[in-house]
Amino acid sequence: MQRATLYLVIPCYNEEEVLPETSRQLLAVMEGMIASEKISPQSRIVFVNDGSKDRTWEMISQLHADDPHFQGVCLSRNRGHQNALLAGLMTVKAHCDITVSLDADLQDDVGAIEAMVDKYYEGCDVVYGVRSARDTDTFFKRFTAEGYYKLMNAMGADIVFNHADYRLMSRRALDGLEAFPEVNMFLRGVVPMIGYKSDKVYYARKERFAGESKYPLKKMLAFAWEGITSLSTKPIRMITVLGTLIFLVSIVMLVYSVVRYFLGATTTGWASIMTSIWCIGGLILLSLGIIGEYIGKVYLETKCRPKFLIDKYLDDEH
Ligand code: UDP
Ligand code: MG
Repeated sequence: MQRATLYLVIPCYNEEEVLPETSRQLLAVMEGMIASEKISPQSRIVFVNDGSKDRTWEMISQLHADDPHFQGVCLSRNRGHQNALLAGLMTVKAHCDITVSLDADLQDDVGAIEAMVDKYYEGCDVVYGVRSARDTDTFFKRFTAEGYYKLMNAMGADIVFNHADYRLMSRRALDGLEAFPEVNMFLRGVVPMIGYKSDKVYYARKERFAGESKYPLKKMLAFAWEGITSLSTKPIRMITVLGTLIFLVSIVMLVYSVVRYFLGATTTGWASIMTSIWCIGGLILLSLGIIGEYIGKVYLETKCRPKFLIDKYLDDEH
């Protein structure tokens, strides 16, 4: 069988502290696989600069100048992890047979890449890297992250448990991904929708090699909400169910009030009226808010704004 051309795609946002080590380790893995004739010598390592404010892009350019195995994609500005990853994948799609996406901070064990490629040769178009343990994460991160995967599944989104964005995708799977035109792209949810044969490779997630997490709590919550609302309309359904329930309760209340009226005891009840006004008011506002979120999404989708713009691509010719 002909050896596949592998492109590693790594989104980078202010990663100057980790890039020297990351590039060294990835190059070692790639050269090993080229030497053992597992992948073709045309394989490349592509760093996507997501509008970094530090020296990340200068370092990527230098890596490219020193060694043609490295390439760089520079986005026009910061667009966030998901869009940066997508930009990288779509840019290299035409040049390769398979891509593996991973984080710049070496939290994803680079040793799993070879196992992923083996699965590709066994006929898989998508291979998910799944964390076998979260020992290195703080209790808080582990608790929220695992709870989130469960919540997502309960909401009907088919995402792979404990899988982030460390995955192999074949060119065919990438073509499939391109056919999803949505602007609110949540890769973890969309990739399983592509279908084709897939498998999982387990690895132990490590600690961030250097630098800080680019996902503070605020971004994490926004990302979680983005995931739910772009994959599931269950929250809207829940509002409908809640509204129906409250309506049923109000019928009971109506009957109760009429009965009280005929018994001649209607002056009491100030407390219950006050509570229901607040309660219903709150529920209405909450419901409007959730519906508004979806309308906002529809609004953004109808504008069809580009998910990313590429400033420069340092490929083999440049
Ligand atoms: N990242 C990015 N754009 C952003 C934020 C993050 O490209 O706006 C990249 C970052 O450089 C890293 C990956 O996304 O390669 C994951 O980020 P990080 O490691 O900070 O997240 P965590 O592992 O803490 O969830
Ligand atoms: Mg990380």
